[in-house]
Amino acid sequence: MIDLARRRLRVRLNPAAMIVPMTIALVVAIAGLGAAALAQMRSDALASASEASANLALTLERSISRNLHIYQFALAGVADAMQDPEVMQLPTALRQRVLFDRSINAEDMGSLVATDASGNLVLDSRKWPPRAINLADRDYFQAHVHNADAGIFLSQPFQPQVTAESKSIGLSRRVSGPDGAFRGIVVGALRLNYFRKLFNGVSVGSGGTLTLLRTDGTIIMRRPYDDASVGRNISASPSFAPLLRGTEGSFIGVAAVDGVQRLYSYRRLPDFPLMVVVGLSVHDVLAPWYKRAWWFAGLIAVVDALIVALAVLLSRQWRRRLDMEAHLRLMVNTDGLTGLGSRRALDDAADKEWRRARRDGRPLSLLMVDVDHFKQFNDRYGHLAGDDALAAVGDSIQKQIRRPGDYAGRYGGEEFAILLPGTAAAGAARVAEAIRHAVQALEIPNAGSPLGAVTVSIGVATSSARGGDAQPFADLRAFLHGGDQALYLAKRDGRNRVVVLGEATPALAI
Ligand code: GH3
Ligand code: MG
Ligand code: MG
Repeated sequence: MIDLARRRLRVRLNPAAMIVPMTIALVVAIAGLGAAALAQMRSDALASASEASANLALTLERSISRNLHIYQFALAGVADAMQDPEVMQLPTALRQRVLFDRSINAEDMGSLVATDASGNLVLDSRKWPPRAINLADRDYFQAHVHNADAGIFLSQPFQPQVTAESKSIGLSRRVSGPDGAFRGIVVGALRLNYFRKLFNGVSVGSGGTLTLLRTDGTIIMRRPYDDASVGRNISASPSFAPLLRGTEGSFIGVAAVDGVQRLYSYRRLPDFPLMVVVGLSVHDVLAPWYKRAWWFAGLIAVVDALIVALAVLLSRQWRRRLDMEAHLRLMVNTDGLTGLGSRRALDDAADKEWRRARRDGRPLSLLMVDVDHFKQFNDRYGHLAGDDALAAVGDSIQKQIRRPGDYAGRYGGEEFAILLPGTAAAGAARVAEAIRHAVQALEIPNAGSPLGAVTVSIGVATSSARGGDAQPFADLRAFLHGGDQALYLAKRDGRNRVVVLGEATPALAI
């Protein structure tokens, strides 16, 4: 039981057996670390892209806000001037210049007009007298009629009727009289080309987008530019809802327009119902990471493969070494001629069994076997035949000892020793007799022997079960000597016989 547990422990601690699980653990750990590093690199790439897109959204928002503020001031200027009779009475050319300063005529600013309460143009930055246009049916006009708030109103994108200009949006405000009554509106057109140029000057990668939206979901401008998307309302698409969460933010979503997954950063203009949305294609953002990830994963795979290859080589070498050690141990512990234990192994076994017998209080028997008149056998039949006879004797001995703890070894020359743990003198004598009989039964002729055949004499010594004062042997040496003495007696008494030490033998006192 204890032996089995010990063997199991040895197997578990055997380096050769541990190389494979240890290598698997190492390889998995390296792969795990690599995967964690890659995941970190990926989230870092997304985080820095998110920061860059947020910064870009801020820059665009500031730039657009600034321009809209300038335009808002211009509208307010015209509205105020309309209330001022002094300005209105100026000569036409001068009044036009006072009302519509240069900023109004700047690039991308369309015409700026004012209407009376019924929608007819009363002022026109383009010409005097104003064009005969009525704006009463426009959405922004109606919005101002019904809303006393003098805030700015942004129209849907529209195609100006008068000129072949690019699409524009209208910025309008109400003109109220001193009593708050509706007096008309001031409305200016801002060409969407302004946003288009602004967007084109920014780099967002091949899959990136820039969008200017009204907060109701109407696209004012989008890069890449597509005429059809201007004016389109995306409020129903799933990617619009996140844009309404707070005044700024970032999220990953799939674009309603082209189905591309993007990292979005949005920012609302503080004073206008507009928002800027910067979308960086996740594919673009992660492209350098993908490239690095392939290299990294490849490198880890190569390192892991090398480790596995090394481990296989190492374990193979180790196994070979262990096999060789086991073979050497076998060689050292085995007698080459008879296949029994070697003298060295026999000494070890005797030492071990002696101590165990003492510890456990069990008897231990020793059989000393010597071939009779073997010198004559050698002289007559030759050394090689002698070797064969010894091998046959060894074989007979081996066949007679069947108990698991029994051990037989070649003591030297034509002498053998057999250890029988847990066997008392009577049992040992029986085994000895069986051996003697088996050798005789081989019927190997030995003409040099008076007995005519190869026979053995066997001396038996038994250490007593309990030890102490009853124990006839002080130590192992004395025990072995006892076996020798018994053998001597067997020789003296005529050979081919078994003598048990301590049993009365004629004419010899021990
Ligand atoms: P006894 O009955 O008294 O034991 O007589 P014996 O001739 O066997 O006595 P002894 O011990 O003097 O002789 C042992 C002989 O055994 C000597 C040697 O020729 C022979 N012998 C010992 N070892 C070997 C061996 O390995 N091979 C062979 N062929 N003969 C061996
Ligand atoms: Mg001898
Ligand atoms: Mg002999």
